Amino acid sequence: MRPVRKTPAHTTDKLAELVCSNTFKSTETSNAHGLLKAEMRALGSMILECADAARVPAGSALAVDRDAFASAVTAKIASHPNIEVTREEVTTLEPCSIIATGPLTSDALAEAIRQRLGVGALAFYDAIAPIVSRESIDETIAFQASRYGRETMEGEGEEGAYLNCPMSKEEYDAFISALTTADQFHGHEFDEAPYFEGCMPVEVAAGRGAETLRFGPMKPVGLQDPRSGSRPHAVVQLRREDRHGRMWNLVGFQTRLRIPEQQRVFRMIPGLANAEFLRYGSIHRNSYLNSPAALSSHLSLRDDPTVLFAGQITGVEGYTESSATGLLAGINLSRIIGGDEPVIPPPVTMLGALYRYMREADPTHFQPMNANFGLVDDLPETIRDKKRKRELIAERALAAMAEWNESIESDARVAETS
Ligand SMILES: Cc1cc2nc3c(=O)[nH]c(=O)nc-3n(C[C@H](O)[C@H](O)[C@H](O)COP(=O)(O)OP(=O)(O)OC[C@H]3O[C@@H](n4cnc5c(N)ncnc54)[C@H](O)[C@@H]3O)c2cc1C
Repeated sequence: MRPVRKTPAHTTDKLAELVCSNTFKSTETSNAHGLLKAEMRALGSMILECADAARVPAGSALAVDRDAFASAVTAKIASHPNIEVTREEVTTLEPCSIIATGPLTSDALAEAIRQRLGVGALAFYDAIAPIVSRESIDETIAFQASRYGRETMEGEGEEGAYLNCPMSKEEYDAFISALTTADQFHGHEFDEAPYFEGCMPVEVAAGRGAETLRFGPMKPVGLQDPRSGSRPHAVVQLRREDRHGRMWNLVGFQTRLRIPEQQRVFRMIPGLANAEFLRYGSIHRNSYLNSPAALSSHLSLRDDPTVLFAGQITGVEGYTESSATGLLAGINLSRIIGGDEPVIPPPVTMLGALYRYMREADPTHFQPMNANFGLVDDLPETIRDKKRKRELIAERALAAMAEWNESIESDARVAETS
């Protein structure tokens, strides 16, 4: 719709304008973003082709000259014989379409989506708490329990659904002091939103008084540390984010601290000294759907499989993830129009694992997600060396993606000859 209608962040009339950083992150396949990009290349990503052409030196990261990148994408789209570019605001959901209107989806379209899917289906802000990997949590300190022994999840046995990091008074005081004095991110002007209840950054809550968190998310009531036999002074609770229990979310720790500060301050929590962050916390304007509650598995309306969603509005985070879901939405709409079923790569791939997350995540706690290894199925064997383990996961993913791609291309060949 640009430049006819502007957004608070974009400044040009180019397609694929990168509004903030100019990087698609790592190219190494032992990195989750690197693996996702390798999978996209296997599927012939036009976005990555343009990024390669606009690449600037940035070590192993794929960083681009943003003008050259957006110009390349715009030229490619505008010169394609089957594409007509119409610059106007879309305000209705029409059959045979892909809605990829991003975190700053216009109000009129957001309203149309809410009318179709229900008011709870589309959020306008995300308040994201960090997620750490299970294997990086020190289980000689963190203990599994639910408050008063309640909220135990089915199949969890007697131990409770949460991992609890206990704090002494000294540890709590030092933590609050570090939290309230840490360096925070101050976003774009439009991003300075008033905080909603339940969306307040943990450092803002802590700044209201030394005891505020101890009466909020860090309250120790109903919990007993099995090692000391007594109630801790304060507790940080972690809730599992995925079915396999590989990703754990710091409950109530949505934050605007800068990333190095999140590492420094949250590693002060007993049990998290060596925490591996699979996702960092953040809070910003973001229109996104509650995909597990509202969409089909290929991210379409449930009552019309030809209206697909892609990009950040589906609940993925980041340029690479958004482009990857756009690529799959294109493949699927083309298949549907050609009379084939929509398809999703297997969950051993990063793209397939992202789609699985958006299908199977708990709708009551759904938050946007970036590519990370916690989403992908584990290897059958135990590998201690983390880098080696990721390389093997990446090898498996790329082999699976090649096989999957071959199967959908052969569907396309059959369709062409029939
Ligand atoms: C301020 C800001 C900074 C960000 N920084 C980063 C970053 O550094 N790194 C990163 O990886 N991600 C960043 N993101 C997230 C980033 O926006 C997404 O990762 C990515 O751009 C999403 O791609 P998309 O195609 O889903 O949406 P977008 O890139 O936002 O594209 C959506 C397009 O739809 C248009 N549109 C909206 N409503 C309508 C409508 N009703 N009709 C027609 N067109 C419409 C918009 O004008 C826009 O051009 C940032 C987001 C914001 C808002």
